[in-house]
Amino acid sequence: MYDPSRPRVVIAGGNFAGLETAVRLPAHFRVTVVDPRLSFEFTPNIHELVSGCKQPEQLRLNKEQILGRCGHDFFQDTATTIDPKNSRLTTASGVSFGYDACVVAIGGINNPGAVKDPNQLLMPFKAIRDCQAIGIRLRQLAGKGDPVRLVIVGGGLEGIESLGEVLRAYRHKADVAVNLIESEKALLPSAPRVVDSEIRRICEDQPVTFHFNERLTRASKTRITLGSGTQLPSDLIIWTGGIIAPPELSAWGLKKEDDPWAPVHNTLQSRYFENVFVAGDAAMLPEPISKQAYHGLDMGRHTAQNLKRLFSGEPLLPFAPSGKPMVLSFGDLDTFMIRGDRVLAGTALAAAKEAVYQYVMAHFDPARRTGYVASTLQRAAVGGIHLTSTHLKSFDSILRLGKIRIL
Ligand SMILES: Cc1cc2nc3c(=O)[nH]c(=O)nc-3n(C[C@H](O)[C@H](O)[C@H](O)COP(=O)(O)OP(=O)(O)OC[C@H]3O[C@@H](n4cnc5c(N)ncnc54)[C@H](O)[C@@H]3O)c2cc1C
Repeated sequence: MYDPSRPRVVIAGGNFAGLETAVRLPAHFRVTVVDPRLSFEFTPNIHELVSGCKQPEQLRLNKEQILGRCGHDFFQDTATTIDPKNSRLTTASGVSFGYDACVVAIGGINNPGAVKDPNQLLMPFKAIRDCQAIGIRLRQLAGKGDPVRLVIVGGGLEGIESLGEVLRAYRHKADVAVNLIESEKALLPSAPRVVDSEIRRICEDQPVTFHFNERLTRASKTRITLGSGTQLPSDLIIWTGGIIAPPELSAWGLKKEDDPWAPVHNTLQSRYFENVFVAGDAAMLPEPISKQAYHGLDMGRHTAQNLKRLFSGEPLLPFAPSGKPMVLSFGDLDTFMIRGDRVLAGTALAAAKEAVYQYVMAHFDPARRTGYVASTLQRAAVGGIHLTSTHLKSFDSILRLGKIRIL
């Protein structure tokens, strides 16, 4: 029953965008977040699980606790049906929630590509459990003392970050040879070309071979075949095929056949149903933006703001994406900060990626900041906030941090 003083908001998907929407809504909103995953996962640093630099528990937070602190509910289940006409969301176990507004923040799913993989030899790189599994498998292979023949499919952000972690952990310790397959003619095709040339330069004395304008066509336990017919040995294949829209977006009427993702107005309301907001990777703005966690957080914050305005009868505001830089880590060999066509590089920039991680974790988990006043995490988080808010404000201030190159 609609009670204007206590609007009901149901959120499908509670990671960056969905969780941020919820924590920004005051307790007089009756908020329920539905997600099959109990833990928030900090995806931008999952590559560090490959080298063992981070442990899974460092990248997870309990959603029930985060939401409980805000006076909201968490329901661990998959949303299977959203019926915008009747304002109801139903879950896999058959539980149904009525809402006054619904937020869809279910992200994307791993793009499996066109390669047949009946034996599940392609190891995805999308979630904590994926990267944990890759790290374990690499340690098993390297532990045997035999040469490790690794294939990475995809030279985008995930492929480069995973390559960096493999080199960090094994270039001095094990006999590792990496073949990286990229379907375009350069690494990171959407980044300035200088990043491609810099990574290739760094890799000249590393055990890495790049294969451009190539696609994986077949995989067996011991070898892969490329489109050109080239065969390469492989003990482990990391698949970084990017993401595609989850089928739910079409099933719920939020995406039509020609839409790559769920189209939204600049208010983040679905183009097809005004009482449904779509935020994060699942959403496609009138001017599409990159699928990045920081956009997801900003969209979550904006969705909460517009929900408050909606229920107090104020006009909704347009979402304006921020111009935050993307930070790409390449193990301990280099880090790149990219904004538009400007690129900075230097290992000192790894602190920026760590600061963002600490900042977001502390934002969702403030208990740690006050609970363990003297804890390392608290200091790191405060340091991260300081670094982010002062040194990382502009390219010029970043240059003062240390040995940083302008590319
Ligand atoms: C390896 C990797 C590295 C990345 N590095 C960076 C980086 O350095 N910087 C950056 O900004 N971004 C990075 N990203 C992108 C970033 O992780 C995403 O943009 C971000 O996670 C999107 O947030 P989201 O909330 O939209 O979706 P997600 O984080 O994908 O969350 C979706 C949530 O929805 C839930 N869900 C799915 N289906 C349902 C359903 N039917 N019912 C209920 N719940 C459902 C899922 O369980 C999940 O919790 C990286 C991504 C990957 C994979």
